[in-house]
Amino acid sequence: MDAMAANSTGRTLPPLPDYTLTPQPPLIAAIPDKYLALILPILAYWGVSLFFHWIDEKDFFPQYRLHTPAEVLKRNHVSRWEVFRDVILQQIIQTIFGVGMGYFDQDYLLGKEEHDIAVWAQRLRIAQTYIPGVLATTGLDTQGIAKNLAGSHAMLAAALSGGQYNLIQESVAGELLPAFAPWEMVVAKAIYYAVVPAIQFTLAILIVDTWQYFWHRAMHLNKWLYTTFHSRHHRLYVPYAYGALYNHPVEGFLLDTLGTGLAYLIVGMTPRQSMWFFTCSTIKTVDDHCGYVFPWDPLQHITSNNAGYHDVHHQSWGIKTNFSQPFFTFWDGLMGTKWSGGDVSARYSRAKLAAQAKLDAELAATARTDTVTKSLPQDSGIAASHPQPYENDTATASPTARHAHLLSQHRLPIPAGKAQAQALGSRQQILDDTVGGGVQVLAEEAEEEREAQQEVEREVQQVLRRSPRKKNAPQPTTSTASPLKGLRGRVSGVNSSLHGRGSGVLGVESSR
Ligand SMILES: [Zn+2]
Ligand SMILES: [Zn+2]
Repeated sequence: MDAMAANSTGRTLPPLPDYTLTPQPPLIAAIPDKYLALILPILAYWGVSLFFHWIDEKDFFPQYRLHTPAEVLKRNHVSRWEVFRDVILQQIIQTIFGVGMGYFDQDYLLGKEEHDIAVWAQRLRIAQTYIPGVLATTGLDTQGIAKNLAGSHAMLAAALSGGQYNLIQESVAGELLPAFAPWEMVVAKAIYYAVVPAIQFTLAILIVDTWQYFWHRAMHLNKWLYTTFHSRHHRLYVPYAYGALYNHPVEGFLLDTLGTGLAYLIVGMTPRQSMWFFTCSTIKTVDDHCGYVFPWDPLQHITSNNAGYHDVHHQSWGIKTNFSQPFFTFWDGLMGTKWSGGDVSARYSRAKLAAQAKLDAELAATARTDTVTKSLPQDSGIAASHPQPYENDTATASPTARHAHLLSQHRLPIPAGKAQAQALGSRQQILDDTVGGGVQVLAEEAEEEREAQQEVEREVQQVLRRSPRKKNAPQPTTSTASPLKGLRGRVSGVNSSLHGRGSGVLGVESSR
């Protein structure tokens, strides 16, 4: 016993347990985990997308829609079929790459957990040896305090004295060896099962966000990259859930597949962890494109990067802002690329009215073919210089982009300064994309706004004419008598929700 005690008061650490490694059985028999990690995100993508599609089709939550069905119809420059087809293509590429990577992966082996937990417990024990020295610098007599506490708080006394757990021993093969204190094992397990995975997931999220921000930003700041690859994603001016991965295959591979794949490798995730990570990242991306601002969707509240935030990035006036995706917005904040034009509710309401008016007009087979023929107003006050990355946007914008910008500015002004450069740059970007964008998108935008403006003005006139005398008169009930009543009814739920819930609903209003 004397020998053992002497041994323990020395720096002998409790020993690490032996272990035997065995391959981890798959979560689902017949499907290796590394392949399940490829299947789950695809199932989640279509599962969550179908859920949103069902909500869309049944129109269960018009009050939370960012856009109306009419907008989906009238403003997108790609059919649902093409979106579906290209997403499937991307998922095939992603799966082939994943299977290829999995080929080089070793089977994940179990059995080392107790050993690894003991390694953390040993580190804790070693860390305690520094306690007396550190406390001594404050003038505390730790040995004296430890002696006083020994009777009432044995564990605390042992920790204070530098990890001297002389009485804690265990018998191994007939020999008494030092052992870990219960609290050391609890903390070691917490580190192993909670702290380390939390750090891994946090790091992986930061890696994906960083990778995606800078590639996404480059895709917008470099005209060739934009028109060659990224403009495809932006044919969706009104995003919907399964449009989340509607990308050029090169972009889909570079941003999504490589981004999450690298994060997985760098932080050293297990196959089970990667299932969670790939699946959650996928669901987050789908949610960011779902087209709804739900008060009860936890994903939309964890961070300010949500459907409302990303939707701004899909609008013709905000396309060169809000590049951050999919988890946090801090890169936009740090790099000065957040939408800075303030409250966007009015812009959304206007677009809704415009699309509905357009649809109604077409349904009534009285589609108008007006084009923007107004003369070019002289440039006024948008030639100022702005911070990166908008420093050149006002100078390099084409006359057409300026024209469209000024027309819109006339009706729905954007604050002077950086926000104007952002909107002007965004409109130039629409022009740069001759396939999904082009001058017709800006012409439509201008025309739609003009029509909406007229609709609203007529409506106001009608109300004014009616209201003083016929306060209690029955409302006209035929559709010809009040075409706008129907229009208003169809979009009012959305309007009131966006207006009524005020700033914050779109997640970008505080970024002035
Ligand atoms: Zn983009
Ligand atoms: Zn998007």
